[in-house]
Amino acid sequence: MKEKTKAQDICEELGLKLTPQRMAILGYLDGNTSHPSAEDIFAAVSRRFPGMSLATVYNTLASLKEKGKLLELTIDPAKKRYDPDTRPHHHLICLDCKRVSDIDRAFDLEIPDSLRNGFQITGNHIEFYGYCPECKGAAVKR
Ligand code: ZN
Ligand code: MN
Repeated sequence: MKEKTKAQDICEELGLKLTPQRMAILGYLDGNTSHPSAEDIFAAVSRRFPGMSLATVYNTLASLKEKGKLLELTIDPAKKRYDPDTRPHHHLICLDCKRVSDIDRAFDLEIPDSLRNGFQITGNHIEFYGYCPECKGAAVKR
């Protein structure tokens, strides 16, 4: 018997019918660190599946998100970005090209009781803004 692929496993877990389009979306996201938007994913995958609709991308993303297999990042005001890496981590965001890169390090942040507003804090997500290596040079001239 053929070994099941990771995409098949995920589809089964999500209760989604395994279609070549969904397989391609899951394959594109697997290990992807570029934090693509739905449009980016659609553009990449529809090259191989010209008949695919943006709705298929949205539906698949919504299912993954609902099952905790995908993070939806709202750090880019123009469009939501998606991250298949659901472990706690932080992000660097380029203000120019909107590139998002990962910071895989936990910061030991203590919030004093007086600032917690009674919250039990379970996590944090820090966004660092600036200019990426490619945009830095241009930023000097600003
Ligand atoms: Zn940049
Ligand atoms: Mn990330």
